[in-house]
Amino acid sequence: MPSVLIVGAGFGGIAAAIELRRAGFTDVTVLERGETLGGVWRDNTYPGAGCDIPSPYYSFSFEPNRSWPLRFSLGPEIMAYLSRTAAKYGVRPRYGVTVTGAEFRSGRWHVSTSAGPFTADVLVPAVGQLSEPYVPNLPGSFVGPAFHSARWDHSVSLAGRRVAVIGTGASAAQFIPHVVREAAAVTVFQRSAPYVLPKPDVEYRPWQHRLFPLERAFFWGLLEVTTLGIQGNRAVTKAVALLASRHLRRQVPDPVLRAKLTPDYPIGCKRVLFADDYYPALTRPHVHVSTVEVDALTPSGVITTDGELHEVDVLVYATGFRTTDFLSTLSIHGPGGDLSERWADGASAYLGMAVPDFPNMFMMYGPNTNLGSGSIVYMLERQARYLRQAVELLADGASTLDVRPDVAHRYDLELQRRLAGTAWASCRSWYRTDSGRITNNWPGLVSEYDRRTRTLSPADYRVTA
Ligand code: NAP
Repeated sequence: MPSVLIVGAGFGGIAAAIELRRAGFTDVTVLERGETLGGVWRDNTYPGAGCDIPSPYYSFSFEPNRSWPLRFSLGPEIMAYLSRTAAKYGVRPRYGVTVTGAEFRSGRWHVSTSAGPFTADVLVPAVGQLSEPYVPNLPGSFVGPAFHSARWDHSVSLAGRRVAVIGTGASAAQFIPHVVREAAAVTVFQRSAPYVLPKPDVEYRPWQHRLFPLERAFFWGLLEVTTLGIQGNRAVTKAVALLASRHLRRQVPDPVLRAKLTPDYPIGCKRVLFADDYYPALTRPHVHVSTVEVDALTPSGVITTDGELHEVDVLVYATGFRTTDFLSTLSIHGPGGDLSERWADGASAYLGMAVPDFPNMFMMYGPNTNLGSGSIVYMLERQARYLRQAVELLADGASTLDVRPDVAHRYDLELQRRLAGTAWASCRSWYRTDSGRITNNWPGLVSEYDRRTRTLSPADYRVTA
């Protein structure tokens, strides 16, 4: 029976381990550098951290949670669900083990870790796209407390203090409403304004729990339709943009602030946010939105490019993650060389999972599998299903599986051609490398991904016996 080593115990790693265990593969090791499972849900403990994808859809199809309290669950609830689910299926990661590299030698993966070497037949990197915080390298230094949103320092009290927030993405939009309640003054440094839609949250009543299958199907369909907008459907884009501008008009009466908060790029290019409390937070008298670019830090605050010094007591970076440096914390060496060299011009992988010359390696949440609209958990389930078929082929006698270069190349050309026609090609975002290649997002509907990953075709692979 093939042995499988999974790196990371977030939703991806846990999804992979459960699928393999359910199929009867028991030699599955999950190594996790943290002290608990959960990935982004463990790391992001900022006030208000939650998921803006409805919970009945942001969960495994085989493990519906019949008691989500809110439609848009908060982090602790999602963590509890993932822990419970992992335990139920017998997945017990080894914690506090940092994987540093892996080399494919003599038909097996030799994995280096902080707890010594491991070997396995199959390597499954499941380290996520949003696990390495990005902090801009600004000149100067600030003497007060400063931290990234994904490393929230709960020992720092914000009560009565002046707080600077750099960045206005999905994380900032969730914690700013909480910060403004406590802080004496808040300056939000916005480089680009996000599109914000109303968030139809619901505190579920017990009878509504019975409707979760329906709700799951409804949001699956709705998010497929909004994806059509990202793909270029003008009617959808217009409808969603109208909703966003109405939300802004209703919630921000001041025309000067409203002008600042009006995005200057096509809708869908960056992640569209769902929030009812973000705009109202920005209208509070002690909150200031600065749209002048941040230039440098001083011991007492932030200087913008117009030379103004914004004096603050605490600095919060909501500046996102190193998203295009896939697997940058691992040094992976296959028969074809180093993966980082292979990906020097941007990461790519067949179906987001397999790379030529890196046999028996299948990634979870790899290149071009992120969504602009949809549930990543749905995608992870499909990847786990595909991985399981690869492991079945190995169990049936194959010794290596290596995606054919022509198959991977054709696939990549197709993806890049399609991505060039999407909203994502129209602005800078975390989905693209500096050179403009879109490395993170899947161009199609999730139903297409489901179809294309349903059956692993051995013809796509170089299979050795
Ligand atoms: P993000 O979306 O990458 O946002 C980073 C923000 O920082 C952007 O506003 C960016 O501006 C700004 N920024 C970066 N560098 C800057 C600099 N040097 N100076 C000024 N501003 C700078 O990161 P995030 O908010 O942490 O969210 C990341 C992703 O996590 C989301 O897109 C989403 O997929 C996921 N997420 C999901 C949820 C959910 O509810 N499902 C919640 C939180 C996060 P520009 O836009 O101009 O680059």
